[in-house]
Amino acid sequence: MPAMSVSDHDPAADRQALLAALAWQIEAGADEAVADAGIDRFALPKPAAARPAEPAPRAAAPAAHSADAAPAPPAGKTAPRAAAPQANAPAAAPLRAAAEVNATARALAEAATNLAELRAALAAFDGCPLKATATSLVFGVGVEGAEVMFVGEAPGRDEDREGLPFVGASGQLLDEMLRHIGLGRATNVYIANILPWRPPGNRPPTVAEIAVCLPFIERHIQLVRPRIVVLLGGTAAKTLLGSTDGITRLRGRWYEYRPQSLAAGSEPAIPALATLHPAYLLRQPAQKRNAWRDLLAVRARLDSDAATTGA
Ligand code: URA
Repeated sequence: MPAMSVSDHDPAADRQALLAALAWQIEAGADEAVADAGIDRFALPKPAAARPAEPAPRAAAPAAHSADAAPAPPAGKTAPRAAAPQANAPAAAPLRAAAEVNATARALAEAATNLAELRAALAAFDGCPLKATATSLVFGVGVEGAEVMFVGEAPGRDEDREGLPFVGASGQLLDEMLRHIGLGRATNVYIANILPWRPPGNRPPTVAEIAVCLPFIERHIQLVRPRIVVLLGGTAAKTLLGSTDGITRLRGRWYEYRPQSLAAGSEPAIPALATLHPAYLLRQPAQKRNAWRDLLAVRARLDSDAATTGA
C-alpha cells in the first residue's frame, strides 16, 4: 500500500489522502472490506498450493489421464510424492507440479460418493490458489437429482460473501427467468460454478485455475444427476464441452455432455445446452430474447422427456 500521510489539522487533506488510498486499493482489485485489519500474507506460512494433499485411496489415475503422471509403483511399494528431479528439471518442474495437483484434484473428486463428501474434499483441497484469496467456498445450491443443473463461471463478490452461487444481480435475473419456465432452486434446479472460489476483483479465471477445478465440477454434475445441464456463458460452455468456440456460436444448441477429466463411467451422456450468462444479459438486455429462446428449449425438452417416460 502506498505511504499515506494523515494530518491531524487539515480534515480536507486527510480526506483526500484517504480517498487516494482507497482508489489505489480498488485499482489493485481490493473491491470490498472483508475484515477490520489487513492480512499480512508475507507473515503467513507458505501456502500448500505446490504441495498436493495426500491422494485419497482411489487415487490411481485412469490410463486415459496417465500421460503426465508417474507409473504405478510395484505392489507393496509406496509411490514417491514427486518424481526425482531430472537434469532439465527447472523447465519441467512447474509442469510436473501442476500435473500432480491436477491428478490429486481428480483423485479427490472421484473418491467423493455424495455431495457432502465432495464439498468436504473441496474444502480440504489447497491446490487452487484462489482459495487463499476468497472468503468462502461457494459449493452449490439446489436439489440433488434436480431436473436441470445450471453451471456458471465463478462466484462474484456477493456469492463470495454469502457462500452461495448466483445470489447477486445476475442470480436474481436467473431466478426470474427460471420462474417463468416453472423452475426454481428450491424445487427442481441445482446451481454451481466451474470455480468454487471467487477470482480476485472478478477477473476471468486462468486456464490453470479452470483445469485444477474441472474434476470437482464434473464430479458435482455426476453426483447431482440432473436430466439436463445448462451451461451459462462462455467459460462454462467451453470448459465442459471442451470447445474453443465462443458462446455466441455454442449457444442455443444441444450437446451430449460427458466428463473429460474423470475416469470413464458407464453413465449415459447428459443433454446439455449452452446459453448466455445472466451477467452478460444485464449488460446487453437485447440479448435476453436469445436467452429466453434457449430456456424455452429447455422447458420443451423437459416436457417431451416427461411425455415419453411418463415422469
Ligand atoms: N456469476 C457466475 O458465473 N456465478 C455466480 O455464482 C455468480 C455470478
